[in-house]
Order: sequence, then structure tokens, then C-alpha cells
Amino acid sequence: MKIAKLFATKQPVISFEIFPPKADTPVETIFTTLEGLIKLKPDFISVTYGAGGSSRSRTKEIASRIKNHYRVETLAHLTCVGHEAGEIDMILQGLQEANIENVLALRGDPPADNPHYDFTKGAFSFASDLISHIKKHNNFCIAAAAYPEGHAHCRRLSEDLNHLKYKVDQGVDFLITQLFFDNRIFYNFMENARRIGIACPVMAGVMPVLNAKQIKRIISLCGASMPAKLLMMVDKYGDRPEDMEKAGIEYASQQVLDLMENGVEGIHLYTMNKPRQITEILCNTGRVY
Ligand code: FAD
Repeated sequence: MKIAKLFATKQPVISFEIFPPKADTPVETIFTTLEGLIKLKPDFISVTYGAGGSSRSRTKEIASRIKNHYRVETLAHLTCVGHEAGEIDMILQGLQEANIENVLALRGDPPADNPHYDFTKGAFSFASDLISHIKKHNNFCIAAAAYPEGHAHCRRLSEDLNHLKYKVDQGVDFLITQLFFDNRIFYNFMENARRIGIACPVMAGVMPVLNAKQIKRIISLCGASMPAKLLMMVDKYGDRPEDMEKAGIEYASQQVLDLMENGVEGIHLYTMNKPRQITEILCNTGRVY
């Protein structure tokens, strides 16, 4: 099923994001995680591509299992950085053959060993190029990424928003945002996005903070700003792992509840492959009894 159809019948649409196990770990290790998450009846589960050093072919393998074995809808992430058009077509064909109908079309980050990578040298410079390519040649439901605080490589928020509008106009069916810790940032972003004519459904990305080390990594990777309340929480519980996790779950639960009360179209939980903690969040928000 094409995920975009869900927004017409159900809001908020709830989704989970997982990442494949590293290449040297058996792929089966993800199955227990998946079974824990599927019990929570998400509307779909997305599978990252290439992030965290994982083997790229595992995205299709795991997405296919979600769809064809567990019978849950799935969204396969795909980055175009470093891929030729022919390679992208082969990947898309493989997804289609595996009965996968939804793709999150991304540019991707520069390779770790080449931070000044020239994106204009490849077949696709931006996600918008990948999206128009997919739209022309395939029949996928296409999702794309949005950045409520602006993308790290773009100097101005307004410029990033204009790039987003252009990207959506190439054929995006719905957006998923980068994680944020202050819902007001998301609400402001939505106001600005709607004002410039971005009309497709937008899913709010939420990641629970479960330990102090993780938060430092997140901030350095995506630059999300830290509200004072969260900073105080990390100061207070940073060296007490159990209390920190409890507080992080509570913080994410409050974020999700507030988003629901404010009528968001979708909530995308970055699960970090941790079904127990995600279960607690959904219990706290009344989604699971
Ligand atoms: P784009 O939309 O192409 O934007 C990239 C930058 O280029 C932005 O600064 C934008 O403002 C600028 N830009 C866009 N168009 C133009 C233009 N015409 N002219 C000048 N500048 C322009 N990464 C992975 O490796 N694997 C994953 O599975 C993955 N999943 C993700 C899921 C979500 C929900 C999100 C939010 C991010 C994910 N990422 C993933 C990270 C993503 O790959 C990086 O953030 C990447 O740097 C940007 O990808 P994009 O598709 O947003 O790029």
C-alpha cells in the first residue's frame, strides 16, 4: 500500500524507524527488535540506508521481511550520494520486485573520509534530482526529509525552506522531519512551510534521549537545539543511566502527547532499535494499553 493514502483515513499516522545491523552481525538479530515493535501496531516501519556503517543491501532485505513476512507496511530509505543513475535504477527495480511501494528519497551525507565531497560531480546533486528521476521512471510513493531547524549545510532557514518547496514540487507525497526537542520549532516550521505552499502531509520526527553520550552524538550529527529543560535533565541524570533513561522516556512521551493534542498528521519515532523504550512511550501516550 502507498503510505500517502493513510493520511486521508487516519491521523496521526505512527511510524517507527529502524537501522539494519552492521555487516558483521547476522541480519536475524533485527528480527526480535521488529517483533517487539510490530506488537505496537505501527502504521509503517522505515529502514535506513547506509547509515551507521551498515550494509546497504540489508535495507531491502529487512524492508522486504517487514512487508512480506510480518505484513506491515514499510518505507525503504535510499540515498543517491555516490550512486550512478543505473545503480539507482537497479536498486529501485529490486525494491519493486520485493513488493516495496514506498521510498524515502535522500541525498545522503558526504562520505566519512571525504567531508568536502563535491555533490555536483555525481549523477544526482540533491535529493530533488533523485525524486524527479524516481517520479519519471517508477511508480513509488515518495517521502523526503525536512529540517525544522534548517539543514546543517544550508546557511539560512528561509533558503533551506525554498529548497524544500522545490524538492516537494518534484513529486514528494509526504515529508518526515529531522528530530527536534522543542515542539515550538516544529509548529513554526509548519506555519512557514504551509505559507510557502508546501501542502503534503508532514510527519514529526521524535527521538527519545536515553543516555547522555547519545545526546552529544545527536547534537554533533544533526545540530538539533537543546531546550533548557532537556539540558537540565542531562545535567541532573547524565551519570545515572537508569534515571536518565526514565527521564528521557518521559520527555519524549510529553513531546508526543503535545504533538497529538496539536493535531499533527504523523509522528515518526526514531526507535534506535529499542522496542522496550518505545513501548513505554506509547503506553504513556495512551496508544498502547
Ligand atoms: P537535500 O534535500 O538534497 O538537501 C541537502 C542540502 O542541500 C540542504 O542544505 C539543502 O538546503 C541544500 N539544497 C537542496 N537543493 C538545493 C539546490 N537546488 N541548490 C542549493 N542547495 C540545495 N542519511 C543516510 O545516509 N541514510 C538514511 O537512511 C537517512 N535517513 C534519514 C531520514 C530522515 C527522516 C532524515 C531527516 C534524514 C535522514 N538521513 C539519512 C540524513 C540525510 O541523508 C542528510 O541529512 C543529508 O545531508 C541530506 O539529505 P536530504 O535528502 O535532506 O538532502
